[in-house]
Amino acid sequence: MAVGSCFCGKVKVEYAGQPLASALCHCLDCRKLTGTLCTYSFVVKRADLKVTGSPKAVAKTADSGKSYENYFCPECGSSIYGQEVKADGTTPETIVLRAGILDDIETMTEHKPEVEVFTDRRLNWISPIEGAHQVPGMLQAKQFLESKENK
Ligand SMILES: [Zn+2]
Ligand SMILES: [Zn+2]
Repeated sequence: MAVGSCFCGKVKVEYAGQPLASALCHCLDCRKLTGTLCTYSFVVKRADLKVTGSPKAVAKTADSGKSYENYFCPECGSSIYGQEVKADGTTPETIVLRAGILDDIETMTEHKPEVEVFTDRRLNWISPIEGAHQVPGMLQAKQFLESKENK
């Protein structure tokens, strides 16, 4: 069980089970939505995640052309999670939790990023994480996750 919250504490998250994947994303959207150099996220099953408070959704079409919603604390603006929105309006079973909001540093230590995506946009003074798959774009990242899920 891991718990976390936004900066002001109005939105809280907890999840049971293990993340399906841990990743850094260096895309421009991720920089904008966090105000930092990249996002550090866990892919988790929706059923495993409990969110309290009322995060605000901001919709955007991602670089991949897919519709995406990012959820933020309406008070302090912390980025909480993101999810794809399919063409038929449904959302997948997995969501992308911003792992930096977790309270337990050990959970983060245990889940060193397995993959880095949009590495073509990584700033040149940041080193790749040793042992993490290096993926230049999003499409390949999806394939990486799917290949993991099918294992
Ligand atoms: Zn907040
Ligand atoms: Zn990104």
